[in-house]
Amino acid sequence: MSENGRWRPATRTAHGGHDSSTHGDVVPPLRPATSFARDAAYKLIAPGSYSRDDNPTYTEPEALLADLEGGAAAMLFASGMAAATAVVMALQPGDRIAAPTIMYWGLRDWLIEFCGQWGLGLDLFDVTDPAALGGVLQPGKTKLLWIETPANPTWDVMDIAACAAAAKAAGARLAVDSTVPTPVLTRPIEHGADIVFHSATKYLNGHGDVVAGALVTAQADDFWGKIRSVRTHGGAVLGPFEAWLLQRGMRTLFIRVARASANALAIARHFEGHPKLTAVLYAGLESHPGHAIAARQMRGGFGGMLSLRVAGGAEQALAVAAGLRLIVRATSLGGVESLVEHRASIEGPDSPVPPDLLRLSIGIEEPEDLIADLEQALGAT
Ligand SMILES: *Cc1c(COP(=O)(O)O)cnc(C)c1O
Repeated sequence: MSENGRWRPATRTAHGGHDSSTHGDVVPPLRPATSFARDAAYKLIAPGSYSRDDNPTYTEPEALLADLEGGAAAMLFASGMAAATAVVMALQPGDRIAAPTIMYWGLRDWLIEFCGQWGLGLDLFDVTDPAALGGVLQPGKTKLLWIETPANPTWDVMDIAACAAAAKAAGARLAVDSTVPTPVLTRPIEHGADIVFHSATKYLNGHGDVVAGALVTAQADDFWGKIRSVRTHGGAVLGPFEAWLLQRGMRTLFIRVARASANALAIARHFEGHPKLTAVLYAGLESHPGHAIAARQMRGGFGGMLSLRVAGGAEQALAVAAGLRLIVRATSLGGVESLVEHRASIEGPDSPVPPDLLRLSIGIEEPEDLIADLEQALGAT
C-alpha cells in the first residue's frame, strides 16, 4: 500500500486497494474468523479481537473507499440502511434532521417512523423549491442535513457546496447519499460534506450479489466514534464473505460506472422528445433543470440512472415495462445488467412518485440493444 499514492484512483481501484507484498496473494484473502488469538502476555497478535467490532476483511475496502472519497476513514455496514440508520442513531434526543421529500423511500419512511419514536425532529423539504432548505434549517437545533443527489427516482440535483454552507451556518452536519454518482463521478467531501453514504449493494459492488452499506467521514471525530459504537453494539456489521465480494466488485467500479453513464446518456438523448414519452429525467440532458449544477459537481458522466415518464399514465407505463425483453423488471440499481422499475407500484399509495414514471438502472450492455428493447416496448403499446 505504501506506493499506492503514486497511482491514479482508477488504477488503485483496479488493484482493489490490496497490498500483495504482505502475504503474496495477488487477490485479497478471505478471513472468516469471528475471534482472534492473544499471545502469552494476553496481547492481541493483530489488531481486533472479535468480528462484531471489526474484521480484517474490511480493512482494505474501507481504506480504498476512504481514499477514493478523500475522507479520513470509512466503515462498512450490513446494508445501506444499517449505515444510514447508524448516523441517525448517533444523534441525541431533541436534535432535528432535515431531509428532502424526494429521496430513497425506504430511508424517508424509516425517518418518519423512527424520529418521533426517539424524540428526534424531522423537517422534510422540497428539493425543487430553492428557498425550501433555508426554511427548514433551525440553527442550533438541526444537527443533520441529509441529501441525495441526483435523487431517486426523479434525479433532482442538489448543490452539495450550497447545502454544506447552509448546514455549517446552522451548526449541522451534511451527509450525502452518493450511491448513484459513486466517487467516480462525485466526491462530496471536496464540496464540503461531512459524511458520505453509500448503499454498497449498488454500484460499489455492482454485481447484484451483496447487500452492504458504507459511510465515509471527512473527519474521524467524536460523532464518527458514536457511529462506530452503533455499528459494534448494534451488530450492524458486514459478513466477511460479503466484504470480500464487495472488494472484488469494487475493482471494476471505474469501468462499470463510465460505461453505465455513457449508455444512460445515449438512451436519454435517443428518447428525449419521443412521442410516447412526456419526459426523460436525466441530469446529463441540457434540458434537465439541475444540469448546470450536476455538470459542476459531477466529473466524467452523469451516472447510469434515468427515469422515463410515459404518456398515458400508470397503465401505459406498466404496459411498457411488461413489453421489455432484455431490461429486467426488478428493484435495485447499479448492477451490470439493466433493470426497470415502476416505483409507484413499489412505494404504494402514499408515494410522491408520479404514477407514469419508469425508473431505469442502466447496465453495461451494448447501448444499441437497450435502445432497441425500449423502442420495441414503446412501439407495442
Ligand atoms: C438502495 C439504496 C439505499 C438503501 O440501501 P440498502 O443497501 O438497500 O440497505 C439507500 N439509498 C439509495 C440511493 C439506494 O439506492
